Amino acid sequence: MPALILDGKALAKKTEQELTARVSALKTSSGTTPVLATILVGDDPASATYVKMKGNACERIGMQSKKIEMPATSSTQDVLDKITDLNNDPSVHGILLQHPVPPQVDERACFDSIVLSKDVDGVTCEGFGRMAMGEKAYGCATPKGIMRLLEAYDIELEGKHAVVVGRSAILGKPMAQMLLNKNATVTICHSRTQNLEAHIKQADILVGAVGKPEFIKASWIKDDAVVVDAGYHPGGIGDIELAPLAERAKAITPVPGGVGPMTINTLIYQTVESGESSL
Ligand code: NAP
Repeated sequence: MPALILDGKALAKKTEQELTARVSALKTSSGTTPVLATILVGDDPASATYVKMKGNACERIGMQSKKIEMPATSSTQDVLDKITDLNNDPSVHGILLQHPVPPQVDERACFDSIVLSKDVDGVTCEGFGRMAMGEKAYGCATPKGIMRLLEAYDIELEGKHAVVVGRSAILGKPMAQMLLNKNATVTICHSRTQNLEAHIKQADILVGAVGKPEFIKASWIKDDAVVVDAGYHPGGIGDIELAPLAERAKAITPVPGGVGPMTINTLIYQTVESGESSL
């Protein structure tokens, strides 16, 4: 049977319609327009494109984005000072520091200086810790977007064996924790994992977050698995060899059009929530 396509593009579009209505209602009831501040440090073209896409998504739903561009020579203190200003600015509801920052900037220190109530990209240690403990916090945007996609398609997680390949702070680790929170049994694989193929073969739910084009082979994946590919590489390929799975996986996220649109959508979704809760 053909795999169910977990269509992130369609879900993001539908959610944008709902968010547009919520933003409009917020403006009418309180005069508040949710504002996402984006900080781009340096001139990396890919990062500039991502920030632009995030700003465009804000505009589509009637929110505002406040774009801050800082020179590539900025110091950690320069970025910390800017984040402090935004933390203290009551007109700003969410802060996004675009990853990666130039090497002289301590990205972790900068992420952690974002006040929890404006951490709509879910990058602070405090937010991660609270999420892990089941307390309220905005989720890290990419894994939270994946969870929203799985939920929209009623993918059962409880008791399933989820294998996450990758353990980065912004993807693999929070992904594993979110799946654990939903009562999946979770295995996390990384570059020192032995017998990777054998672990992947156990997966009822597989999340590929490796950063290497089609690194995970279709032949390693069992029939009827739910396959989530977080990777994106030039030419529209992901971290998983998806094509052969189209007829034998239970469900797959397409690349492009699966995880990517859900990341930006989760960022604006959480900024709207922040705008609503700031009243
Ligand atoms: P990352 O920081 O480079 O992390 C890659 C992870 O893969 C690391 O944990 C690494 O293990 C692991 N890994 C590397 N080689 C491996 C191997 N041979 N076997 C098993 N594990 C291996 O990347 P990331 O930021 O998490 O991103 C992962 C992918 O997601 C990339 O393709 C990226 O483009 C994509 N991404 C997409 C979005 C989106 O919005 N769609 C957002 C973010 C990222 P170690 O920890 O041991 O080094």
